[in-house]
Amino acid sequence: MIDVASAASDTPGCQGDHIFLDSAGSSLPPRQVVDTVVDHLRREAKVGGYRAAQEKAEEVESGYSVFADLLGCAPEEIAFSDSATRSWLSVFQAIPLTEGDRILITEVEYAGNAIPILRRAESVGASVDIVPSLPSGDVSLPALDRLLDERVRLVSLVHAPTNGGLLTSAREVARAAHEVGAYVLLDACQSVGQVPCRADDLEVDFMTGTGRKWVRGPRGTGFLYAKRSTLHNLIRDNVDLRGGSWITQDRVALRDDARSFELWEHSVADRLGLVAAGRYIQELGMREIHSAVQNISGRLRDGLSQIRGVQVHDLGERHSGIVSFSVEGTPASEVMSLLRRRNVTVTVSRAPSTLIDMSRRGLEEVVRASPHYFVAPEQVDTTVEFVQDILDGKTPAG
Ligand SMILES: *Cc1c(COP(=O)(O)O)cnc(C)c1O
Repeated sequence: MIDVASAASDTPGCQGDHIFLDSAGSSLPPRQVVDTVVDHLRREAKVGGYRAAQEKAEEVESGYSVFADLLGCAPEEIAFSDSATRSWLSVFQAIPLTEGDRILITEVEYAGNAIPILRRAESVGASVDIVPSLPSGDVSLPALDRLLDERVRLVSLVHAPTNGGLLTSAREVARAAHEVGAYVLLDACQSVGQVPCRADDLEVDFMTGTGRKWVRGPRGTGFLYAKRSTLHNLIRDNVDLRGGSWITQDRVALRDDARSFELWEHSVADRLGLVAAGRYIQELGMREIHSAVQNISGRLRDGLSQIRGVQVHDLGERHSGIVSFSVEGTPASEVMSLLRRRNVTVTVSRAPSTLIDMSRRGLEEVVRASPHYFVAPEQVDTTVEFVQDILDGKTPAG
């Protein structure tokens, strides 16, 4: 079991009466992560970036094993980048697509993926279909089966959408897609670090994630899992001297592992911070983290559901740690600022980031609260009371 008090004492942002419920936006890093980043920046300032990087070469290298362990794959199947989106784009752009090909997305597709999908489909003459959801919110597997045929090149799936507590059935989607030879690209941005996301379990071809959310790493970091057997069939246009080498005047060679997706330049300090965040997860244990997040977010969801005038919007039978809700008579952005005045950090999820799902449900915006394992039960209970106060029109003292 996770010791909440010790997790919180490791977290500079947890000091005082701050109630932090935005790990789906940008979480609070543990001190170990912050120190790693800052120490490296100071070292770079002293000896120069190259020598500082050399000193940390082994630690950077071990990061591939740390993330391979976390994502259930081989170290050669891991690549790092500067965001989940960069990782996602590098895979998406590498998937061959021609006229008449098809791409399937789901109702909870994320805007950052939908935009490149729609633009590229238009430019190559591919079509994009939306796999309908079940009434429960999860992807409908029968509907997926009806949509799949041998022209489908890619199924783009979001594991945990940005705007609510749904967790989709990734493995079942991957199995069905593989029957017709389609690739499955899993956006695991909102799940890695709070839910076990293992390639050997989910059976997807690619998986992308970010450092700053549930992983508790620095901003400007991302990572990618790419199944080894997929690599030789991909288009590799965006490769530099990291992923390739210049052999003779007119010949180049490509790396044969996932690092062929990386570019040479990156923030070494942030990379080291991301690796430190990965190690921190390993120390706590992913299973323990998952159950702690399930408990704390379940407590918040239950507490809010019991308030008359509060509507909880989370879909699905299995939930992630995201709790989405609205308060009768008070717009979500107002709820966010009223909570901030009480030192509670939540955020707002708006229709354009998950357009299909939000439009289908007639939602403009929802309040998004995403407690990580370092949030104490009492803090969740206090938050629920604050929401009740907002409904009652009470203002905070002071
Ligand atoms: C935040 C988010 C992303 C983008 O992550 P970045 O690191 O900002 O690129 C992608 N997908 C989902 C579902 C997200 O919530």
